[in-house]
Amino acid sequence: MSLVVQKFGGTSLADAARIKAVADRVESTRREGHDVVVVVSAMGATTDQLVALAAEVSDDPSPREMDMLLSAGERISMALLSITLNSRGIPAVSFTGSQAGILTDSSHGSAKILDIQGTRVRDSLAQGRVVIVAGFQGVDPESKEITTLGRGGSDATAVALAAALGADSVEIYTDVDGVFTADPRMVSDAMKLEEIPFDEMLELSAGGAGVLMSRAVEFGRRYEVPIHVRSSFHDGEGTWVRESPMEQAIVSGIAHDRSEAKVTVNRVPDRPGVAAALFGSLAAAGVNIDMIVQNVSHDGSTDISFTVPRANLVDAERIAKQVAAEIDAESVDVDAEIAKVSLVGAGMKSHPGVAAKVFETLASAGINIEMISTSTIRISCVVRADDVEAAVQALHAAFDPPAIYEEVGA
Ligand code: ADP
Ligand code: ASP
Ligand code: MG
Repeated sequence: MSLVVQKFGGTSLADAARIKAVADRVESTRREGHDVVVVVSAMGATTDQLVALAAEVSDDPSPREMDMLLSAGERISMALLSITLNSRGIPAVSFTGSQAGILTDSSHGSAKILDIQGTRVRDSLAQGRVVIVAGFQGVDPESKEITTLGRGGSDATAVALAAALGADSVEIYTDVDGVFTADPRMVSDAMKLEEIPFDEMLELSAGGAGVLMSRAVEFGRRYEVPIHVRSSFHDGEGTWVRESPMEQAIVSGIAHDRSEAKVTVNRVPDRPGVAAALFGSLAAAGVNIDMIVQNVSHDGSTDISFTVPRANLVDAERIAKQVAAEIDAESVDVDAEIAKVSLVGAGMKSHPGVAAKVFETLASAGINIEMISTSTIRISCVVRADDVEAAVQALHAAFDPPAIYEEVGA
């Protein structure tokens, strides 16, 4: 019997009727003769509501208690799904991340999965049960503390579990039909992709395409587990994320991200070691830096701007101000009203002129570019948050992804 791992997101578990629909799907997968492991997210907007509640009672909730709070969301949906299946005579058991042996590092709120033991999962499968695992959470084996994996982390739980249990593939059931050429809620004529290679999906996810968490894509690539992203509302094929197809689109898709903020350190003395001091201190505090821009130096000083997750802005500003004082920089500005738009496509490696067309397109739409960063298969621009929707729509219209194809090596 082959093993199928199915993950259901919040909208797919939003109420009793949707939970029953998930049970229908699990039941039919069992009837086809498969063993089933289900990974669940919290119901509907539960995680957002719990975050908001914590903000009402504290300005600075402890990361440990936030993980105790947020991990409760998945615990509710796993138990309700198990109760539903058992009431239909389908033997099922639910496990928290800790009970399933999902071992993580100690970073509350953004923990990384280090290992999956899965002993109880395997034993229960062997006893003929459907196993339901709470997504988005694990346990630090040193401190025994409960951790969460970061927003969207149930995707990572599902792909990591599929790899650990040796499943042939993993199904990510969500509220859209698959991975589109842009967020279908922003671009009405965005197209569903039939398949997309891991490296391009990784750039889209890192660029803010929330349909699949980037760490899930990393697990899929590392352990060669194909990921099928599909709708929980019907049976149609979704998008396969897997090793490269024969054709390469010049642009596969456009992602946007409203979750970052910009910090600028003004008039930094232009001498060796200042960037190391600044970014070393930020790294030591666990602040992830995305883009960095350093201007040309004038009169022995230069401005350095960088972007950080908005959730880390308070820390980043405090640290930047401390370091600015130590290195005699003039001042620090922060700006949360930015957004990032990214164009992704493996074919752009061999096609000069993509960047120029991005800049022309944004200019004709009257959109100012504040920062630029590139990889071999991505071009990202920071723009005003108010401009991001127009930027995504203009770029989608100009590049029409994934219209332009060529044979690899041609
Ligand atoms: P789930 O709760 O199932 O995990 P998410 O809200 O995390 O669902 O992810 C699905 C959402 O991702 C969609 O509703 C869509 O708005 C958004 N999204 C962003 N970029 C894309 C894209 N390129 N393709 C499909 N969906 C996208
Ligand atoms: N419930 C968590 C979140 O909302 C994890 C997930 O849905 O994947 O981010
Ligand atoms: Mg999600």
